[in-house]
Amino acid sequence: MPELTDAQLDQLIKDIGLKRPRGGSQRKPIAHGTYNGYRQHVYRKEQACAECMEANRLYLRERYAKRRQGGGSQ
Ligand SMILES: [Zn+2]
Repeated sequence: MPELTDAQLDQLIKDIGLKRPRGGSQRKPIAHGTYNGYRQHVYRKEQACAECMEANRLYLRERYAKRRQGGGSQ
C-alpha cells in the first residue's frame, strides 16, 4: 500500500465525506470496473482498485487484439 501524507489523507477523507456538487464536473463518482474508472483513479493520482486495474488490462488487451486483426484501417 502506498503511504499517504497527512495532507493526502485529509484530502481523501474530505473527498469521501463531501457531497457531490450538482452537475459536478470535477468530482464524478468513479465508475469502478471500467476503463474510464481506471482513468479517473489515475487522474486523481491514486492507485486504481483491483476492479479498475482489471478493466484497464482487458481494455488494453482488446485494443491490441483489434489492432492485430483489423488491418489498421481506422
Ligand atoms: Zn476503481
